[in-house]
Amino acid sequence: MLRVEHLTKRYASGRGDVVAIDDICCAVPSGAGIVLAGRSGSGKTTLLNCIGALERPDTGSVYFNDMALHALSVRQQSLFRREFVGFVFQSGNLLPWLSVRENLMMPLAINGVRPQQGFRRISELLELFGLRGYENAFPTELSGGESQRVAFARAVAHKPSLLLADEPTASLDSVNSAVLIQEIISLCQLEGTTFVLATHDNDLIDMASQVLWLKDGRVHTHR
Ligand code: ADP
Ligand code: MG
Repeated sequence: MLRVEHLTKRYASGRGDVVAIDDICCAVPSGAGIVLAGRSGSGKTTLLNCIGALERPDTGSVYFNDMALHALSVRQQSLFRREFVGFVFQSGNLLPWLSVRENLMMPLAINGVRPQQGFRRISELLELFGLRGYENAFPTELSGGESQRVAFARAVAHKPSLLLADEPTASLDSVNSAVLIQEIISLCQLEGTTFVLATHDNDLIDMASQVLWLKDGRVHTHR
């Protein structure tokens, strides 16, 4: 269970302080997801980064399964991300000097998964994401859609408790985006992964059971 309570984060800028997120609250059960919607600059990335322990909020709290993420030290934040979080960004997720298989292996190796168990998980992911035959390809040989499929497969490889995606389909066509996100939602339900997706794609917003529309850092509408 993810619980965000009265979260606020400011940044110093030339024009004085910018309130990036302001008094945000939400709760997401395990195996369920929430979409963060809103225009550019509305605070989606800041909220996502506070939930993923990439940044610490100024005030308010983020609890994930009773771990107080807002209170972690920098070192604890790293350890939390490594074990519990999978990230997908808009682009540039894959290491270009590693093959698809090696990219997928990385989070497993870092988390101490045995090679044999790792190979089984990777086969499962290649099948699930329609990537069979791409094992030995390098990222530069993939299309944008294929790259993001690999990025999602890698993000969930170590079965994280929390999957965070920041506009991951921004460079994909709408059919590909919808299919990929539906596959991710199904996998998260199956594996009990909590899913937070920032997007301004209306098709994806319609697929979500819970949507937080942000405007100037505040919750504008909560569905
Ligand atoms: P979104 O992801 O919805 O585009 P962001 O969370 O990136 O929104 O940004 C929210 C607000 O915070 C914007 O006004 C942005 O300019 C500001 N902001 C975000 N990150 C920083 C930063 N590192 N330094 C200064 N201002 C920032
Ligand atoms: Mg953003």
